[in-house]
Amino acid sequence: MTTQEMQAAFEQAYGHKAEKVFFSPGRVNLIGEHTDYNGGCVFPCALSFGAWLLIAKNEDNVLRFRSLNMPQVYEIAIDAIAPQPDRAWCNYSLGCIEIIARRHPEAKLESGYDLMYYGNVPAGAGLSSSAAMEVVTARAFTEEMAVSDRGGYPCGYTDEKAYRTELALIGQACEHEYAGVMCGIMDQFASAQGKKDHAIYLNCDTMEFEHVPVKLEGIKVVITNTHSPHHLDSGAYNDRVRQCKTAVEQISKVKPIKCLAELTPEDWKEVEGAITDPIAKKRARHVVGEVARTAAAVEALKKGEIAYFGELMTASHVSLRDDYEVTGKELDTLAEAAWQVEGVLGSRMTGGGFGGCTVSLVKDEAIEEFKAFVGKEYEEKTGLKADFYVAEIGDGVMRLA
Ligand code: ADP
Ligand code: MG
Repeated sequence: MTTQEMQAAFEQAYGHKAEKVFFSPGRVNLIGEHTDYNGGCVFPCALSFGAWLLIAKNEDNVLRFRSLNMPQVYEIAIDAIAPQPDRAWCNYSLGCIEIIARRHPEAKLESGYDLMYYGNVPAGAGLSSSAAMEVVTARAFTEEMAVSDRGGYPCGYTDEKAYRTELALIGQACEHEYAGVMCGIMDQFASAQGKKDHAIYLNCDTMEFEHVPVKLEGIKVVITNTHSPHHLDSGAYNDRVRQCKTAVEQISKVKPIKCLAELTPEDWKEVEGAITDPIAKKRARHVVGEVARTAAAVEALKKGEIAYFGELMTASHVSLRDDYEVTGKELDTLAEAAWQVEGVLGSRMTGGGFGGCTVSLVKDEAIEEFKAFVGKEYEEKTGLKADFYVAEIGDGVMRLA
């Protein structure tokens, strides 16, 4: 869908034109899985698909929410903003508006607004359609509610990076409070700070980050959607968090640490004997290995060693399968089929696990064969049909018009 078509849909729904158009991307994590809550780094990039938001003021002191992806329409008075029941999709938007006002005393919603969303990130596939929607809302409404009259960025920011980080924090707070998902900062951060043809080497604790160029001549990032109904539920996630904590406690008897990411693979050899819980030991082995792999992957990319980058992605999947145990039949079938295709440099699950997507590096000339072979294997082994997206690495949130 083009922005002209979105503008036409806006006008048809509301009877007047949209005043502004914004876009924010979904993301895929290239490597660094389940490291974020262990003090380690992640390495996501923004995608060229995401969420669009068209807005115009209205005279009625209400927020009207429509989405070209959803049948429900919501209307909420501007003095009655609160989380809506029944997992209403407008929560991802409404929450941001309320949180902007809470975090920035100068921010005021001075009129009602008509809003129209459109998204082309497959929802629920682990590519963060929710973060795209939150960050696009944060971008639009910081500008509406607290645009600086002294130049610079909304809410008084003079530094673009700091402003973009604030958009990510608004989105994350919305996800916590209005969607009830206690996510880390990665998704919203990638959506806010993305840069074309770059990935983001990010420490989720400190929010220190570096844009690393992704130069893939003759190679594409291919995302494959399992369309699996399984996903990492909060129970399995909380188990992993607890097991990592157990490992930290037991390791600390021989070497005091705050988080697993402090350990190098050399340290690991010295401390692993201190972990008496065999499950905690496997979980910790994944985290220590994955933190090192992520650092090595960033170095490999900087040196143009794409084949090695691919090998690290594959090693990441094996570790997530055998030690962290968050893959499952669908993701394993996709990754294992991908590894058999000539011209695939690496393939791994991405996101929390169990369902969602894999991410693969595939040579241009192998893409058709990749889709055909992986698609066929997947259908034979799981009865499900996979979807393939050849990803472009795009920019973070922006105003388009
Ligand atoms: P994801 O992995 O895609 O972020 P989530 O379950 O976190 O999956 O978020 C998906 C939810 O976000 C949808 O159920 C819907 O409530 C909301 N959402 C995402 N994109 C849109 C959109 N374009 N229009 C309306 N709601 C959306
Ligand atoms: Mg989400």
